[in-house]
Amino acid sequence: MTGMKNINTKMTIRIAGCDAVPLSGSDPVQLTCGTAGCSSTCCRNGPHIILNPYEIDCMCKASGMSYEDLLDIVETDRVNGYPLVMLPRDPSCHFWTERGCRIYDARPLACRLFPLGRVFESGRSYIVLPDRNRCTGLVPAPSRTLADYLREQDTETQIRMADAWIEFVTDMEELHFPDKPVTSVAFHLLVYSPDTPPSSDLSAAPGSPEERFLLRLATARKKLPEFLGNR
Ligand code: SF4
Ligand code: SF4
Repeated sequence: MTGMKNINTKMTIRIAGCDAVPLSGSDPVQLTCGTAGCSSTCCRNGPHIILNPYEIDCMCKASGMSYEDLLDIVETDRVNGYPLVMLPRDPSCHFWTERGCRIYDARPLACRLFPLGRVFESGRSYIVLPDRNRCTGLVPAPSRTLADYLREQDTETQIRMADAWIEFVTDMEELHFPDKPVTSVAFHLLVYSPDTPPSSDLSAAPGSPEERFLLRLATARKKLPEFLGNR
């Protein structure tokens, strides 16, 4: 749950009982990632990361896992009929090694942003540093700006795909699919599984993961109502 207010003229967003100030591109981000001093608390003993199907596709490709293999190492749930696919980080993420992340180039957006977070308020997204965060490498010293940090972490594509995903889910929620296992199965099969072709027209399969993901969503927009409409 989030809520916005002004304290001493600074806008804050309420996240999990704490106030967080939205950051601007010129705000400093002071981290010691990659140095010997940091123990990568972002990859261990943390809460699950909720994955979207674009992130799952990237992770499967980078690790050589099929979707079925991936389902063995994630946790799944069902909320109002919709599946949740979550990457556990306790005691450590499946992809974490002493030398770092095994799928670094394909890591999810939450990993790229940590310890920052992206929250939505009144139709806008904000990047915040929650007061309560688990980063052990925050340092009070001049460092890079937020804009530099987002560039370094290569977040632009992930944010664009996350926004496409949020728009898709918002539209699907308006169709009021049944809160039944069949809805979850249809989403796993048609939307989440990178092993399912993104379109029944195989000659139309695009090359880039982003194009494939957007085509998969466009196909699912047609197929899900057909499949779930009379259930
Ligand atoms: S985000 Fe924080 S905990 Fe994770 S590697 Fe960087 S400094 Fe360490
Ligand atoms: S995917 Fe990589 S960066 Fe993200 S929690 Fe796992 S090991 Fe860490």
